Amino acid sequence: MASDIIPQIRETVRQLCEGFPGSYWRDKDRERAYPTEFVNALTEAGLLSSLIPEEYGGAGLPLIVASAILEEIHANGCNGAACHAQMYTMGTLLRHGSEEQRRKYLPGIASGELRLQAFGVTEPTAGTDTTSISTIAVRDGDDYVVNGQKVWTSRAEHSDLMLLLARTTAKDKVAKRSDGISVFIVDMREVLGKGMTIRPIRTMINHSTTEVFFDNMRIPASSLIGEEGKGFRYILTGMNAERILIASECLGDAEWFIRTASNYARERTVFGRPIGQNQGVQFPIARAYAQMRAAKLMVEEACRLYDAGEACGAEANMSKMRASEASWAAGEACLQTHGGFGFAEEYDVERKFRETRLYQIAPISTNLILSFIAEHELDLPRSY
Ligand SMILES: Cc1cc2nc3c(=O)[nH]c(=O)nc-3n(C[C@H](O)[C@H](O)[C@H](O)COP(=O)(O)OP(=O)(O)OC[C@H]3O[C@@H](n4cnc5c(N)ncnc54)[C@H](O)[C@@H]3O)c2cc1C
Repeated sequence: MASDIIPQIRETVRQLCEGFPGSYWRDKDRERAYPTEFVNALTEAGLLSSLIPEEYGGAGLPLIVASAILEEIHANGCNGAACHAQMYTMGTLLRHGSEEQRRKYLPGIASGELRLQAFGVTEPTAGTDTTSISTIAVRDGDDYVVNGQKVWTSRAEHSDLMLLLARTTAKDKVAKRSDGISVFIVDMREVLGKGMTIRPIRTMINHSTTEVFFDNMRIPASSLIGEEGKGFRYILTGMNAERILIASECLGDAEWFIRTASNYARERTVFGRPIGQNQGVQFPIARAYAQMRAAKLMVEEACRLYDAGEACGAEANMSKMRASEASWAAGEACLQTHGGFGFAEEYDVERKFRETRLYQIAPISTNLILSFIAEHELDLPRSY
């Protein structure tokens, strides 16, 4: 079984991460620099192509293996956000692209020669209401002409290709608001400076995120994935994979925080005894551990359903919610355990604390997950 290789893959990741200690991440964080060396090392080890089928040059492994890779990266104090999208963004192309598109792009993505890690969905005015996006692609002969703007398009400056969601029919001209949205694979090397402008956004974490502007950007009609107007549905399965993998990163963060907090609580002596002997110090760490273990079961269940090709929208969402809350609880316990030293950069706690907070907001915020559960699992009226 593919999952039999998980212990070995975890060990490979662990060894690779040893080459990227806290000091590496602190330097990158200070400079807001892209961790190129880390991404290259993962690429060379073949870890980013695990989900691409073997016939296109990947390892053809199930999601549960990709989940273990990202969990392990984070549990070892590293951060997969610079490249996690290289693992799963190709899913829309794989499932809905033509054979010609798959042959054109997937082998390059598998080898790392091509980076597909920019996913342009969010827009400044639409926010979470994706069907209200206003970036529009209009067919003109053999091309589409794209106008509009995306925000929070992460890694756009470190990507060759972008998966772009745009309206091809205005919202007021479609029967269902999720209709009339199409998905394109855009070769950014062809359009950068020729209709596409990228502007970095400086944020509280080192995330290489950007805003992207489209001004009469011409892309070949062959960039369309699947049928025109069906793009919203195409990206949904990919979003499940994304949520499960982000949840896996949160598990890893939680494990790092819990280990770091426990180590410190054992060693730090105040009032003549280790601070970890006090229940007031132990309990938040123990509680976070229980939360992490529960979230881990849910992530495993979501992976099992996804890998079996079964519906897993609720499980993907719930596992992301539980894991992001577990990592936040663990981060809070870790920071508190460290007292003042939690604020010192050299302990890495404050950086990881900032980093893990993102996942209660992106790629989908907790409120929207709760709305999904209420509507789809509890049959309550849609609230938005
Ligand atoms: C660092 C970073 C990286 C990102 N990377 C990407 C990327 O690569 N590609 C991409 O497309 N997007 C990306 N995003 C965008 C991210 O997915 C969105 O920020 C997120 O989905 C929330 O959308 P919003 O920021 O527009 O918030 P809004 O939709 O404006 O919501 C603001 C707040 O209101 C709440 N809210 C809104 N509507 C409701 C409602 N009906 N009921 C209850 N509460 C509600 C939300 O939960 C949220 O807390 C990234 C964001 C960040 C910060």
